[in-house]
Amino acid sequence: MSTIFMSKKEIPVRYEYDVVILGGGTAGAIAGIAAAREGAKALIVERYGCLGGSQTMALVTPIMPEGMKEGNAESSISKEIRLRLQAKGFAHKYDGNNSSWFDTEMLKVELEELAIENGCDLLYHTSFVDAVMDEQKIKAIIVTNKAGLEAITAKQFIDCTGDGDLAVLVGAGYTKGNQNGKNQSVSLRFEMVGVDMNRFGEFLEQGGQADGYTRPPLLSTYRGNLSKTLDRVLEEKCKEGYVTEQDIHYVQLFSMPGNPTAISFNCPELGDSKNAIDPIYMTKKSIEGKQSIVRLATCFQKFIPGFENSSIGQIAPMLGVRESRNIVTEYQLGIDDVMNYTKYPDAIAMSDYEIDIHGAKDEALTQKSYNKSLPLNEQYFTIPYRSLIVKGIDNLLVAGRCAGFDFYVQSTVRVQHTCRYMGEAVGIGAAIGAKENKAANQVDGAIVREKMITYGSDLR
Ligand SMILES: Cc1cc2nc3c(=O)[nH]c(=O)nc-3n(C[C@H](O)[C@H](O)[C@H](O)COP(=O)(O)OP(=O)(O)OC[C@H]3O[C@@H](n4cnc5c(N)ncnc54)[C@H](O)[C@@H]3O)c2cc1C
Repeated sequence: MSTIFMSKKEIPVRYEYDVVILGGGTAGAIAGIAAAREGAKALIVERYGCLGGSQTMALVTPIMPEGMKEGNAESSISKEIRLRLQAKGFAHKYDGNNSSWFDTEMLKVELEELAIENGCDLLYHTSFVDAVMDEQKIKAIIVTNKAGLEAITAKQFIDCTGDGDLAVLVGAGYTKGNQNGKNQSVSLRFEMVGVDMNRFGEFLEQGGQADGYTRPPLLSTYRGNLSKTLDRVLEEKCKEGYVTEQDIHYVQLFSMPGNPTAISFNCPELGDSKNAIDPIYMTKKSIEGKQSIVRLATCFQKFIPGFENSSIGQIAPMLGVRESRNIVTEYQLGIDDVMNYTKYPDAIAMSDYEIDIHGAKDEALTQKSYNKSLPLNEQYFTIPYRSLIVKGIDNLLVAGRCAGFDFYVQSTVRVQHTCRYMGEAVGIGAAIGAKENKAANQVDGAIVREKMITYGSDLR
């Protein structure tokens, strides 16, 4: 590959903060809210025009259950968001299955309101391009937007990009993929509106689906495990050429609270890859995904009862990337820690969600390992704060799916309730560091944990 040199430029320092969070997604939005709530002057920098990341821009709903018998595994801010959405009719939480279903559009609004109420500043439509170091400390990040290049200085930085973009740029180590270097499958999600839920529910019940999720407002199903009628039609229509094997190999559907005719499709799943964040690959999958969505939508409209008058409501602007890089942190949480339910003194999250690998499965792991949370038990594993401290960089924390986990652990902690816990922990940790003039890697995780408990996070 040929290279080119970029001339040195003088860049205006437009913003100066205590804590800057790069990426306002699932973990990042919460990190900003938590840091501001803790008294820090905090800024979230986000490339899109809203908060929520994969939850809102990749249309990922619902929040998966934490897999624990007693339930109650929510960080304090996550709980507050759910309760606020629930009060307005835009979220549900179900007994016996602590998943929380929510409306992807209204989450954007609620997150923004909460950020503003807590005094967290937002800078949208801004991507990051570079960083300026002072030995092991990040002095500034360089961002790009309609104003050109701008510098932002801060005492503490938090990487919530999902891919560890900032950490990698400043030289942190990382791992990627399974033992063969394969990443999990990517998906492009979409929503259909104008669905007759009662008619669709009856159709699912005819196929033997009787799990209680077949009537509005609660409706969910997935191919191969629930309704035989849906499976039969999809398989028949695949043989007739309406959809491809790839289109229907993973099909999962959910209703959305507050949106009585909408169904969120967790598909099409577009195969696994060696590099889920290669821009050429991502472009290709974004094009393939839309073609697949049109085939699936047409098939549902023509052949699935309830979808006769439906249409595509939206196609996710953001490709759904389940896993890419994992940053090397002070403690890399491994599969044994999770399978042994290790409890840490600086635990900032708890869960017993399953090992959930899409594509790139590992033959050495048994079915029991994959379904570790079934049946629900009283056990849970924890995430130590040290798994969020980037190794080798003094003032950089990382949260969300790209934090310090091995490939298998990543597949369980990548779900939203754990990403939100991590966001809350790094927001508090960075704010304490800024207040006490300490680098983020000098803050005691046990104190962060205590603070989280005081705020109402479920941590045992
Ligand atoms: C298809 C799919 C289905 C899933 N299903 C479920 C499910 O049903 N339930 C569940 O709980 N979890 C599910 N997950 C997992 C979960 O949604 C994600 O792992 C989680 O939301 C990731 O959170 P995050 O904060 O790490 O990243 P994100 O929420 O993706 O946030 C990253 C943010 O950083 C921003 N960003 C990235 N780079 C830059 C940059 N250079 N400059 C500025 N901003 C940047 C992005 O725009 C984004 O807002 C699913 C994931 C996928 C992909």
